[in-house]
Amino acid sequence: MSGIKYTREYDVLVAGGGIAGVAAALASARMGKKTVLVEKTIFFGGLATTGLIIVYLPLSDSRGNQVTFGIAEELLLESIKYGPGDIPHDWNNPETRSRYMTRFSPAAFTLALDKVLMDSGVELWLDTLVCDCVMDRDRITGVEVENKSGRGLLKAGCVIDATGDADVAYRAGAPCVEQDNWMSIWWMEASLDKAEEAVSENSGAKLNWDRRLGGSNTGEGMPEGMKKYSGTDGREVSEFVLHGRKLMREFYEKEQSKRGESGRKDIFPMTLPSMAQFRTTRRIDGIKTLRNVDFYRHFDDCVGMVADWRGGRDVWEVPYYTLVPQKVKGLLAAGRCISTEGESWEVMRVIQAAAHTGETAGVAASMAVDNDTTPDMLDITDLQNELLRRNFLLDVGNI
Ligand SMILES: Cc1cc2nc3c(=O)[nH]c(=O)nc-3n(C[C@H](O)[C@H](O)[C@H](O)COP(=O)(O)OP(=O)(O)OC[C@H]3O[C@@H](n4cnc5c(N)ncnc54)[C@H](O)[C@@H]3O)c2cc1C
Repeated sequence: MSGIKYTREYDVLVAGGGIAGVAAALASARMGKKTVLVEKTIFFGGLATTGLIIVYLPLSDSRGNQVTFGIAEELLLESIKYGPGDIPHDWNNPETRSRYMTRFSPAAFTLALDKVLMDSGVELWLDTLVCDCVMDRDRITGVEVENKSGRGLLKAGCVIDATGDADVAYRAGAPCVEQDNWMSIWWMEASLDKAEEAVSENSGAKLNWDRRLGGSNTGEGMPEGMKKYSGTDGREVSEFVLHGRKLMREFYEKEQSKRGESGRKDIFPMTLPSMAQFRTTRRIDGIKTLRNVDFYRHFDDCVGMVADWRGGRDVWEVPYYTLVPQKVKGLLAAGRCISTEGESWEVMRVIQAAAHTGETAGVAASMAVDNDTTPDMLDITDLQNELLRRNFLLDVGNI
């Protein structure tokens, strides 16, 4: 603890200001808790903004039923407040198989997130890295942070790990699982073709154009012979990022050479992701793990639902104990680092699911503080009653 230059105390501390962290902090602050949100970059939104992942996946199943509500829906609408969107008007028509989702501009979404967070009264710390945990035996009581003011101690009644990589849970000693990542890169591109389309169709949305290279979520498109990368190894993170940008350079060299001697650069990179685009890194091995076969399965500790963005298996309940780590008290996980495996992870790692588990974690943390307990000891029925007041659906059998 030497070198600590400042100390602050909060009811709830949220580590990581991606979509899960934003939703968690909003939920907690709106329940009257003194809440702090700590983010290492200067943007909120994580992969959805800093990472240029611009598709807000569906709140509805493929039969036109909305299954995810609350802050997940609020943020979807915020994502297109200052920029273009394309929510299908017929998403609730079962015949069309449209979904309640949208593309958005990451810059526009960033502006909107700042406003909702500032309006909610969350204390916002940007450019601040959570770098260690403070423990009282098996209970986390705060974190150490590092920023321009030096090293500080932020104490909290309850901590939410929304770092995407379960960094806090791992450092606190909670069991975690890790998975390597396909090589892929997404970025925003300027394209004369897209600009012409935008003008001829009178559509600003056409200017919001992203280019993607490398492996898909299943590895399809991964350049042959290329290794997978670990997102929890400091050296490999740098290699992954630099390798992605090398693929981009090769792509533009090829594209621009097709344009002959005129040297016209009709397409070029406009904005690059400023955080590493790992789909898979580390997640908690929680008190409960959502398994591959758990779609359309009811759990007594259900805290809401998420639709499979790929269709098919469609609706999955979220069990509360997938947010609760083993061995460490006073801590919840939210977003892509909750306890899942394989197919269920594929469903739970995306933007609307991160907003949903974030809100749930924020509510649970707030209730744990109110009841002077830890999240693992929270009365599930009380939590579910609060979520029902938010119009969450808690039984997949009712869809
Ligand atoms: C290539 C790719 C394509 C994808 N496609 C889609 C898609 O089309 N649609 C979709 O919905 N999802 C997609 N996803 C997934 C989705 O973008 C993310 O999984 C989701 O946004 C995760 O949100 P999160 O809040 O859990 O984590 P993150 O967005 O990772 O946020 C974590 C935040 O914590 C911060 N942080 C981390 N460590 C610390 C620390 N120590 N101190 C302080 N701050 C810290 C980070 O800076 C970041 O802001 C894609 C992901 C990738 C990589």
